[in-house]
Amino acid sequence: MIATLNPHEAPFTTGLTPWAQTLPQHISPSAAKAYLGCSLKFYFERVACIRKATPVALHLGKAVHAALQSFHLARWRGGDDSVEAVANAYELAFHRLERDEGPVNFDDEAEREKARQDGLRVVAAYLDSPEAMKEKPRAVEVMLKENIPGLSVPLTGAMDLVEGNFTPVDFKSAAAKPDSANAAFDHEIQLVSYQLLMEAATGETPPSLDLVFLVKTKTPQVIRVKSPPADAHRKRRVVALLETAVQGIAEDRFHPQPAMHCSWCQFKNECKAWLPGMTVEDIHRKHAA
Ligand code: SF4
Repeated sequence: MIATLNPHEAPFTTGLTPWAQTLPQHISPSAAKAYLGCSLKFYFERVACIRKATPVALHLGKAVHAALQSFHLARWRGGDDSVEAVANAYELAFHRLERDEGPVNFDDEAEREKARQDGLRVVAAYLDSPEAMKEKPRAVEVMLKENIPGLSVPLTGAMDLVEGNFTPVDFKSAAAKPDSANAAFDHEIQLVSYQLLMEAATGETPPSLDLVFLVKTKTPQVIRVKSPPADAHRKRRVVALLETAVQGIAEDRFHPQPAMHCSWCQFKNECKAWLPGMTVEDIHRKHAA
């Protein structure tokens, strides 16, 4: 049975007040991946909700996503799917996101203008590519919430696009050409979660789990990476990863996980101030001192 989330509901909330020792209300693949990547960064971002300037790549990715969404919705509903209409949706999203979710970490106006133009170019490249949706999609921006065996809370997920044959497609903005062999592995939690949601909601197994990369190289590229549907082993592995995140959040296990990703982490100062048992108020106080 499909359970659709209210579109205004946050894509993920932990359901925790800090240190409440209760289960989150649901888990999404993006929340699980963020938690497993660095649980302390997850805490700063999603539990303590410490605001930082939006990274340029994230801002651009969201504006490109909004443009593609407008194109796919137009294909679905028979609306205006012209290049001009999609470019307009991109410009509107670029400005709206800056106003509502900014500030964006632009160094100066020149960097902002370059980012805006880069986004327009990748959107145009997608519309001009063989990957641009020609048929009517089965669904666009579908949000599902399902109980999955082995998970102690419902699984949620928002699929960018579902093709007529039930293939879920997720769009990624990228600075460099992806390594196809690793891309599906890197996004395993998300892709297999979509399959689990699709199977629970419709009883259908997708023939393929697809990623479409929009690469912001000088000449933008559009690259589809297909991966076969997960077998029982892959599904069990992903459910175990999702449940590890659920249990870690429920038990307030948040600690630094230093690795290469620290180079671009925005919470380095808060992280340096961290000691076991500290509250976020302690961290703010220590950081301000
Ligand atoms: S600096 Fe590294 S260890 Fe610390 S919160 Fe950020 S990602 Fe985690």
